[in-house]
Amino acid sequence: MSKLTFERPIIQRINAGLPSKYGMPRRLEPLSQIDGVSIESLLQEFGSPLFILSEQTIRKTYREAYRAFSSRYPKVQFSWSYKTNYLNAVCNIFHQEGAWAEVVSGFEFQKALANGVPGELIIFNGPDKSREDLKMAIQHQSLIHIDHFDELYDVIHLSKEMEERPKVAIRVNLDTGIYPLWDRFGFNFENGEAGDALTRIMSSERLDLVGLHTHIGTYMLSTDAYRIAATKLASLAVKLERKYGHLIQYIDMGGGFASKNTLKGAYYPGTDTAPSFDDFAEAITSALMSSDIKPDHLPMLILETGRALIDDAGYLAGTVLATKRLSDGRRATIIDAGVNLLFTSFWYDHDIRPVAPVSDQSEDTTIFGPLCMNIDVIRSNMMFPLLKKGDRFVVRRVGAYNMTQWMQFITFRPTVILLDKEGKPHVIRKKESLETFNSQELTPDHLKDFDL
Ligand SMILES: *Cc1c(COP(=O)(O)O)cnc(C)c1O
Repeated sequence: MSKLTFERPIIQRINAGLPSKYGMPRRLEPLSQIDGVSIESLLQEFGSPLFILSEQTIRKTYREAYRAFSSRYPKVQFSWSYKTNYLNAVCNIFHQEGAWAEVVSGFEFQKALANGVPGELIIFNGPDKSREDLKMAIQHQSLIHIDHFDELYDVIHLSKEMEERPKVAIRVNLDTGIYPLWDRFGFNFENGEAGDALTRIMSSERLDLVGLHTHIGTYMLSTDAYRIAATKLASLAVKLERKYGHLIQYIDMGGGFASKNTLKGAYYPGTDTAPSFDDFAEAITSALMSSDIKPDHLPMLILETGRALIDDAGYLAGTVLATKRLSDGRRATIIDAGVNLLFTSFWYDHDIRPVAPVSDQSEDTTIFGPLCMNIDVIRSNMMFPLLKKGDRFVVRRVGAYNMTQWMQFITFRPTVILLDKEGKPHVIRKKESLETFNSQELTPDHLKDFDL
């Protein structure tokens, strides 16, 4: 039997873990497997830290979301939000499930094309589309969601220059009762700007107005906001039909559904507060179907759901580097993954767990990343068991935005693996190396040598 680790007893003020109405917080259960595969064995094979994605969870979540909408509405189409996670393997799982691509830059557009998505099934969003980007999108007959008048004029100009009829929609921002308003993207509904943009498009006679788009926010907990947004877009569609006899092909409700992560400062965990896909689907589809749009003219419903489709499928596993006591006696645990890899720790209280069973004793702990930077905190003041150097940890629900917003700062970005449906691991992004970076750098001749 191995000797138990000694921990010096201390007396301290409690900063976390005060009883709630449900009593004292429970012990953190370890998480040792993902889809039946041992996390410890994956760390040994692929190194630490390690991002792990579950193909099974991605497909299951997608099918749940698709069923929620398609069981309520005749024509439903998902379009994968590339910026949420644009690892090619991940995108291709969604494309295999039937999702189109939703991109917000020329880079993402090219990525979708390279993945084999037909241009006419790429939705091009965002405020930054260069003339070259727009040309590429027009040539590929992609769906251009216009963000502002300057872009609208660019597209009209290009339609003349290229003698093409671009397929466009406008992005609309609107008051959904959620404040502050998300009004920096698209044309405003309430002040009439959206109506003006539509008039401008119809009177130009050069553009093919195919849809109406909104994306009302992200990590939305209110289904009512979607009901309001769908109702307002439907009213624009009705106006278009009444005024121009023009039928749009789709209404695109964007993304924004909350995932089950817990926001910092939230009283209840996200697993209890995030509405289900059924809740969101009910709000949106009932608003469209009870609108004045004629039943046989109901447009296709597009969803650009990002985080809610991928968060649960992602894990970040790693190793404890050291433990120490802070000056006030609080326990600190330093791990080998910091905010460079886990950008979302700035706004989520991430669910972080030991990989192997540990003692029942837990303590108010702050979990720091490895960076030489004071803000590198993964969790502050959480009741956490006493892990020691070399012990493994795993963070759950990190599939959204971390593998796109991660920073190359101080160290390399790690290997990402995908567990297929049989639990077989596949490397889908290699750990970076010095070569990855040096291949991008140029050193002028006079700076090549030095003598120390
Ligand atoms: C980011 C984004 C999405 C995805 O948002 P989620 O909150 O991750 O669902 C969808 N559409 C647009 C236009 C976006 O910018």
